[in-house]
Amino acid sequence: MSTPHDAMWEKLNIDLDAHSGLLAVLGKFYGDIYLSQSGRLKGMEYLDFVLSEVHGLRIKEIQEAKAAGKKVIGTFCVFVPEEIVLAANAIQVGLCAGAEAGKESAEKILPRNTCALIKSFVGFKLSRLCPYIESCDLVVGETTCDGKKKAYEIFNEYSPVYVMEIPQMKNACDRDLWKTEVLRFKKKVEEVTGNEITAPKLSEAIRIVNNRRKALQRLNRLRAAIPAPISGRDVLLINQVSFYDDPIRFTSKIDELCDQLEERVKTGKGIAHEETPRFMLSGCPMAVPNWKLPYVIESSGAVIVGEESCIGTRNTRDLTDESGTSLEEMLEAIVDRYMKIDCACFTPNTERLNNIVSLANELKVNGVIHYALSFCQPYGIEAYKVDKAMQKATIPMLSIETDYSMEDVEQLKTRVEAFIEMVKVK
Ligand code: SF4
Ligand code: SF4
Repeated sequence: MSTPHDAMWEKLNIDLDAHSGLLAVLGKFYGDIYLSQSGRLKGMEYLDFVLSEVHGLRIKEIQEAKAAGKKVIGTFCVFVPEEIVLAANAIQVGLCAGAEAGKESAEKILPRNTCALIKSFVGFKLSRLCPYIESCDLVVGETTCDGKKKAYEIFNEYSPVYVMEIPQMKNACDRDLWKTEVLRFKKKVEEVTGNEITAPKLSEAIRIVNNRRKALQRLNRLRAAIPAPISGRDVLLINQVSFYDDPIRFTSKIDELCDQLEERVKTGKGIAHEETPRFMLSGCPMAVPNWKLPYVIESSGAVIVGEESCIGTRNTRDLTDESGTSLEEMLEAIVDRYMKIDCACFTPNTERLNNIVSLANELKVNGVIHYALSFCQPYGIEAYKVDKAMQKATIPMLSIETDYSMEDVEQLKTRVEAFIEMVKVK
C-alpha cells in the first residue's frame, strides 16, 4: 500500500516493501498493547500521534531541518552527551534497536548468540528499514560492551561510525579518560556541523536537556502514587519517544500530561485498583517497539511503577549542573553528570545496586523484575548481585532473560503470574 511518505523514504534508500511490512506489524502491535488500554490520560494522544508518525512526520521534519542546514546525529547509548549536539545546532536521535525485523540479515554476519539489541541495529541497517539511520550525518557508537564495540566495526563498513570510549571504572584516571572523550566528541561535532560550541549555546543546551529530564522526573514522582495513575506501558512509551522527538516540544507536552496526572492523583483515581501488585523493572534498556515484557506483566494483573533502565530513570535521574558560566566549567559539569551513569558496563557497580534498592523502596514496590536480554553479559551477570541486594533489602525479585521474539510469551506469562501470586501471599 502506498503512502504520502513513499517518495521521501525512497530518497532515503529505504526498502519500501520490507518497510511497509514493518509498519503494518508495528501498527497492529501498538493497537493490541496500547490502544486497547482503558482509562488513559488525554495527554497520551500526543504520544499515540508521534508513534503513528514515527517514520513519517518526524522524519519529514528532520529532512526539512537538514535542508535548512542542520545536521543529524544518531546514538545508541545514553552516554552520548546530547548537550554538545544541541549546542552545535544539530539534532540528536536515539536509534532505537528494539525490533526483530532485520534479524535474518544480521545473523548472516553476527554470531547468533549476540544480544537482540545489537542484532536489531545491524539488521535495520543491512535491511534498509530505518529512516533515522539513513538520515544521520554521524552515527555515534560507544565501547560499553564487547558486543557493541565489535559490531560497530562491521556497521562501519556500511555507514561510518564515530566511537566514544566509555570508562569501565570510576577512579580519577577514568574521569580523565572520559573528559578527553567528551572534548574529542565536541571537536567531532563541531567539525560535522561546522558550528563552534560557545558558552551561551552550551548553557542553553544544558537547560533544554535538563528541562526534559525535569519533566520526566515530575512524571516519575506523580506515577508513584497509590493507586498507580498511569500504566507502566504508557510511561515506557513516553521515555522511548523522548529519544527522538524535538526536546522542547516534548517537554511541554509531558508537562501538560503531568498536569492531567496531578489532577487524577488528587482525586485518588488509578488505572488499577490500589491492591494491584506494584513492580519495578530493572535492567537492559527497552527500545521502541520492545513492549513485550511490560505487556505480559500488566496483562497478568500487576502494574509497573518504575523502570531502572536507560529508557527510564538511568537517563533522567541526574541533572547537569547549570551554575557554570565558562565553557570549561560547563564541560566539567557534563563530564561529572555522565560519570554518574550506573550502567552494568562498570566494575564494580555498587552504585546501581544502591540505586535499585532506594528506588524500589521509594516506589513502595511489591517486587522487582530484573530484565536482561539473552546473551547480554553485563546485565545478565549483574543480575546475581542485584538478586543479593534485593534479598538483603527483603524485596522479592524475579529474574527474566528474553529477547524480541514472541515465542516465549506464554512461558513468561506463567512465570510472571506465579511471581504475582507469590508477592500477594507475602
Ligand atoms: S545500558 Fe549501558 S550501554 Fe546500554 S544504553 Fe544504557 S549506558 Fe548505554
Ligand atoms: S543489552 Fe547488553 S549486550 Fe546488548 S548492547 Fe546492551 S550492554 Fe551490550
